[in-house]
Parts: sequence; C-alpha cells; structure tokens
Amino acid sequence: MARYTGAVCRLCRREQIKLFLKGDRCYTDKCSMETKPNVPGQHGVNRRRGKQSEYGLQLREKQKVRRMYGVQEKQFRTTFKKASSKKGKTGTNLLILLERRLDNIVYRMGFARSLAEARQLVKHSHVLINGKKNNIPSALVRVEDEISIREKSRNIAFVKESLDSAARKGTLAWLSVDADKYSGKVVAYPKREQISIPIQEQLIVELYSR
Ligand code: SF4
Repeated sequence: MARYTGAVCRLCRREQIKLFLKGDRCYTDKCSMETKPNVPGQHGVNRRRGKQSEYGLQLREKQKVRRMYGVQEKQFRTTFKKASSKKGKTGTNLLILLERRLDNIVYRMGFARSLAEARQLVKHSHVLINGKKNNIPSALVRVEDEISIREKSRNIAFVKESLDSAARKGTLAWLSVDADKYSGKVVAYPKREQISIPIQEQLIVELYSR
C-alpha cells in the first residue's frame, strides 16, 4: 500500500488522539484536535457506526501506533513478528522495536521537528550511525550507537531550530544528546514506562493472534 500523503491532522482526528505528526504546531492551540476535534467525514465515522466492536477497538489501536511511527502495514507486521520472537511481552517488545527505528531516534534526539522531517533527513543521507552514512529509516539503532548529523548538513535550517526547541523540552532518559556536536547516543533501550504513548499494546497482540 502506498504511503499516506494526505492531511496528517486528519489522522489524529480519525484516531481521536494526538499523534504529534506536525512538530511544534501540535503543542499549540492551532492543533486540529483543539480546533475541530470531531471525527472527519460528513457525519463522523463513530456517530455513523455506533459502538465499536472488540475487533474495531483492536484495529484502531494498531492503526494509532502504525500512524504514530509512520510505518506501513507490511513493515508493521514484520516488526510484530520480530517482537513476538523475542523474550518478554510482545506488546512491549513491539513498542521498543518501533522506538529503535533510526527515523524515530533522530526525531527523539531533537534533530528534526517531526517524524516526517526525521525520515527526510535519513533518506537524504544527512544522518550517520557510528560515523557511517545510513539512509534507511527503519534501521534499528543499538545501545551505544552514535547518531550524528553529517558535517555538511548541519546548516539545514530546521535542524538548528529543532535542536533549540528540543533543548527547552529536555532529552529522554534513555538517550544522550550533545547539541554542539550534532550527535547523540542511545544509552539504553527504553522501558515501557518511558514510552509515553497512551496505547494499549495488548489489543494489537490480540488482533494479530486472531
Ligand atoms: Fe495531530 Fe499535530 Fe495535527 Fe494536532 S497539530 S492534529 S497533534 S498532527
């Protein structure tokens, strides 16, 4: 299936949750979830369909996570399979694998204002892992890996802007960032409680166990 290229705020309204896809705008009162929080469509999907079935709830939870991390269905399923083959809770493993994606790490470290910008940085070869170019957004970052912005790319306007904004918000406990050197490290993989997304990942596990 092709990547969604429509209005991203519509996705938040569809899922009835802030997916934080538009960078700083998501934290302002211009956010569409503040100005028009209804489900998109002529009369709103929920109102049209009434109470959601168990399957519907599981499906929506999966869609939320997929959209939050900008992952397509096939890749999401592959990530789920990988998560279920690991020790521990599959739902937690799934979220940790998604957090470890290179595009997500670049975003979380504050080199980009949104996940879409982070993906663009990676795809256009502006990002290095341990000093080597890597342009694969789904590449999994490991503990102690150093992520940096290529020297030639450090003058990209939004990178500087984003680092300034990230410095005000603070760095996540499982990452360390040196904004002056345009680099950061993964100190440890995140624990479930450090992934602050309001998701019931168990519903996704149930969906794929059907
Ligand atoms: Fe979602 Fe951000 Fe748009 Fe708000 S501004 S609806 S959080 S993408």
